[in-house]
Amino acid sequence: MDTKTGKIGVTTDNIFPVIKKFLYSDHEIFLRELVSNAIDATQKLRTLSSFGEYKGTLDDMNVRVAIDKEAGTLTVSDHGIGMTAEDIDKYINQIAFSGAEEFLAKYKDRAENIIGHFGLGFYSAFMVAKKVEIRTLSYKEGSQAMMWSCDGSPEYTMEPIEKKERGTNIVLYIDDDNKDFLEQARIDTLLKKYCRFLPVPVISGKQQEWKDGKMTDTDRDNVINNTEPAWTKKPADLTDEDYRAFYRELYPGQDDPLFWIHLNVDYPFTLTGILYFPKIKSNIDINRQGRIQLYCNQVFVTDSVEGVVPEFMMLMQGVIDSPDIPLNVSRSYLQSDSAVKKISGYITRKVADRLDEIFTQNRTDFEAKWDDIKIFIEYGMLTDEKFADRAKKFVLLKDTEGKFFTLDEYKALIEPTQTDKDGTTVYLYTTDPTAQYNYINAATERGYDVLVMDGQLDSHFIGLLEQKVEKSRFVRVDSDVIDNLISKEDRKVADLTPLQRNELTTIFRSQIPAVDKAEFLVSFEALSATAAPVMITQNEYMRRMKDMAAMQ
Ligand code: ADP
Ligand code: MG
Repeated sequence: MDTKTGKIGVTTDNIFPVIKKFLYSDHEIFLRELVSNAIDATQKLRTLSSFGEYKGTLDDMNVRVAIDKEAGTLTVSDHGIGMTAEDIDKYINQIAFSGAEEFLAKYKDRAENIIGHFGLGFYSAFMVAKKVEIRTLSYKEGSQAMMWSCDGSPEYTMEPIEKKERGTNIVLYIDDDNKDFLEQARIDTLLKKYCRFLPVPVISGKQQEWKDGKMTDTDRDNVINNTEPAWTKKPADLTDEDYRAFYRELYPGQDDPLFWIHLNVDYPFTLTGILYFPKIKSNIDINRQGRIQLYCNQVFVTDSVEGVVPEFMMLMQGVIDSPDIPLNVSRSYLQSDSAVKKISGYITRKVADRLDEIFTQNRTDFEAKWDDIKIFIEYGMLTDEKFADRAKKFVLLKDTEGKFFTLDEYKALIEPTQTDKDGTTVYLYTTDPTAQYNYINAATERGYDVLVMDGQLDSHFIGLLEQKVEKSRFVRVDSDVIDNLISKEDRKVADLTPLQRNELTTIFRSQIPAVDKAEFLVSFEALSATAAPVMITQNEYMRRMKDMAAMQ
């Protein structure tokens, strides 16, 4: 067969400058595209072999990424199905570009919105290369090995070559602006990011070891990926320790997660994954701990999952793998996409189901972890109506004695004793058990129960509970409202002369910050025989307004 030249099947002559210009910020994804193609070719050969259509060996099924600094090339090689001259014509010269062209026509004016995950595929190589060669031998018997070559104009050449090994080598002649892609460390970082869980071993360089005072290459291949990540396996085949080990692989150096959920659905969309409830350190800062990662057939896409998962799940960690999430569009599009909405709704339901299951099957464990998971559940209930309705069943309230109650259980407990004359049940709570100790004591001695509401989201959460639980009102234990629950005759009045009272009031009031004076009341009516004889109470309404303002 002779050398053939031709024009790639595109109408725009200057598509390459367009590729380079618009996709500037995401140059690095070319490597993901080429490695995924190599994986696809390898998997296709496996499939053909399982159907008996390919009868040769399947050894050496790996993908290799190699740098040749002197030649200025980066090569991605596989031992997959390879391509015949006809295949190249069909898949590279004609088909491959149509997608890119359509894409560019559509998004040219809105280039800044593109997240860059659009599967421009093979041609993304031209973002970093001045020339690209394909050297390939098809698995089909009697095939002639071919080389396709293109220097970035729509013209290409194709010619027969010598190549003994089945499969494809894509050789990129890296251009001057992108020389960093000839650095081993840069390539390894990218492979670790995008290819960490690909299903075929990806080899890049050699393993290194410490020798004679410096890091030295060994003769062992450096395999980048774990080809069988936990989320691709059946839950029945995994132990708790497997889940924890996978968590450590994803987020090294963190405390063990509290719970996990293995997602697996194939209708009406395909989705797998594992979500973890991490132990959240003092403040809400999941960005530093590592976020949920989105994969498409084991290829890393992004960890910017806003809009794909419900807002409260931004506190969770783990992996979601779905070929059905459209990856090639802007984020605002992603958020309004109906498939994404369905997926998001599904995940919410799954998370609620799993929490319900843990609560029902092992309430002791659930209670033991409550302080840590409370933030997920409260945040979920505050931001997601559907989740709130499901979580009403298992959200817990904790009282000052450390006992846990569901909403229904708690209502039943306090209804007989803490209902005021309007028929509203008054939920007493403390935001600081130590500072408010005297008030708690007075209340519990009266037979009332006091809840601990000292979490980061509790002041908002109380507002939600007042809406969700009929005829309920939450009142802080040191507020003046509590007096109304206690009958006059039960109170003990301190035995003081009016003058003593005045003097004491002055002393107590002098301790209240000037700005707050009007909100506080000094009273000499002890709430019980053993309670403190003098109390300062704060107006509940004023206090809440302030708390809310402080949260903004
Ligand atoms: P896509 O992967 O979405 O089909 P690409 O532009 O990445 O689009 O690739 C176009 C086509 O070129 C592939 O579908 C495949 O048929 C062929 N191809 C690309 N790389 C390889 C390879 N390494 N081995 C065999 N065929 C390949
Ligand atoms: Mg591809």
